[in-house]
Amino acid sequence: MADVHQEAPKPQPSYSDWNHIQIAYFSMEIAVAPDIPTYSGGLGVLAGDTLRSAADTGLPLVAVTLLHRKGYFRQHLSAEGVQTEEDEPWKPEEMLQRLEPLAAITIQGRPVMVQAWRKDIAGVDGHVVPIIFLDTDLDPNDPWDRQLTDHLYGGDTFYRLCQETVLGMGGVSILAAIGCQPSVLHMNEGHAALLTLGLLEEQVNEGNLLDATQADLDSVRERCVFTTHTPVPAGHDRFTMDQARQVLGEERTSALEKFGSCHDGMLNMTYVALRFSRYVNGVAMQHGRVSREMFPDYPVQAITNGVHAATWIQPSLQGLLDERVPNWRRDNLYLRFAIGIAPEEIRARHMDAKRVLISAVAARTGVQLQEDRFTIGFARRAAAYKRADMLFSDPIRLTQLAQECGGLQIVYAGKAHPHDDLGKNIIHHVFEAAAQLNSDALRIVYLENYEWELGALLTAGVDLWLNTPRRPYEASGTSGMKAAMNGVPSLSTLDGWWIEGCIEGATGWAIAESDDESIEAESLYEKLENEILPLYSRHPERWAEIMRMSLAINGSFFNTHRMLYQYVTNAYFPGDAPAQRILQPELALSR
Ligand SMILES: *Cc1c(COP(=O)(O)O)cnc(C)c1O
Repeated sequence: MADVHQEAPKPQPSYSDWNHIQIAYFSMEIAVAPDIPTYSGGLGVLAGDTLRSAADTGLPLVAVTLLHRKGYFRQHLSAEGVQTEEDEPWKPEEMLQRLEPLAAITIQGRPVMVQAWRKDIAGVDGHVVPIIFLDTDLDPNDPWDRQLTDHLYGGDTFYRLCQETVLGMGGVSILAAIGCQPSVLHMNEGHAALLTLGLLEEQVNEGNLLDATQADLDSVRERCVFTTHTPVPAGHDRFTMDQARQVLGEERTSALEKFGSCHDGMLNMTYVALRFSRYVNGVAMQHGRVSREMFPDYPVQAITNGVHAATWIQPSLQGLLDERVPNWRRDNLYLRFAIGIAPEEIRARHMDAKRVLISAVAARTGVQLQEDRFTIGFARRAAAYKRADMLFSDPIRLTQLAQECGGLQIVYAGKAHPHDDLGKNIIHHVFEAAAQLNSDALRIVYLENYEWELGALLTAGVDLWLNTPRRPYEASGTSGMKAAMNGVPSLSTLDGWWIEGCIEGATGWAIAESDDESIEAESLYEKLENEILPLYSRHPERWAEIMRMSLAINGSFFNTHRMLYQYVTNAYFPGDAPAQRILQPELALSR
């Protein structure tokens, strides 16, 4: 099980020095802890890992998100693989600390009061990164407004626009109310883009937004940083001008139009963020290139994502690293020195995680997997471009492979968004294929309710991490990074982070790219049959060497410590000596 990141001692340290905060990180979802269901998947996990690394590295940063009282959803799967959903309510009152100041914003012409809750993440040396959760469930608010912070990605586009107004404008107001004046505001995806409107309102003070001067716009732009997260057009939030007028009112909508935040006659959150940011980046090198093609008027940079090592490396391997590469927790770059650990030791630690996974599968499904059998993991959001069923495109061949290698086990997991019928069909199809193919030699299980803890079990406990996105739709992907840190190599199409992480035969394998899907599937089988399975069963010492390289080469780079260092150097404080700036915050305040 993932090590739950070290919590701040209770009672939580009081945080009177909001004025030392230099960076405010806004994200619609944040995976704060396994028992706080305020995230849906990769974006939220990335946000949480970013904050854990900010705490470890002593960055003066605050995060802002929504409370999501009813969470995302809990997934149930019937025996036939039909998904149903259930709310996941939780108790902020028991887990967070309520802050005093309230903020007031306007939605649909009505005043909406916003309160804030706080939770701290403490780093290895005790540095605290506070997270502010915004909440509109307050007595004086209209009943409609009270449920705006209930459901992550719930409701329709109108609900979404109201939520984004709470996040962006409410977030800026709350920061002002608590006396926090960050010099940098980071939008983690376009959901947070309306924070720019909040800043512009602060800038023009009581004046009319339409009278904002170039200097006003520049001063907002000077403070804003934007990370875009998907090359899938549907992933970019858009709202009709009519909705914008209803939710935001005439003046703000006209201002957004006037200042170039609309596209194709819609209010487009990506364009809001692009227009008002001095630095913009994609989340892997290829994603940077694709984003520059999508937004040719903007210089989109790239900083490749990472994961927080101490969160995702399984406990048994953590113990070995503590002995051999002390300091890896404070600075993930030290993972490079795992190259000095004997491969058999890493393999033995992996076997511990495989046993934990096998007993979790037995407890959840009643299916008993075997620890000496090669085990493939595939877990991700059920979206068409991820092609979860590529492995089943030639069922006869898959069965033959399983028989020839002495038995094959495949573990699946993943949710489909409640409105995504295509995604639900994919899950159903995997169930159907599994039911037909299951035999003594080939065991396929689908685990329900993919979330943090299951993600940790799978990425640490399987032997191979499989990923089959259709290029170039995977912006980065991070689950394969978790696997790599646990010594688990990937077999994947060359998309997202894997273009950077794949050293063929050393850290994993690439599936050949083709417009013809059957050629890609052929390549997948061919790699399994001719390279991966023989290596695993006949050359365990070479397999262990691959595990070690996954950890030492990819683990030491695809982590959020390195990622955040790149944000500090390139995005937050370019041109400044970053260390000096962080060590002497007073320099920043006088900027
Ligand atoms: C890491 C993680 C993700 C993101 O992984 P991808 O490779 O982008 O699919 C999604 N959901 C959970 C629960 C995770 O732990």
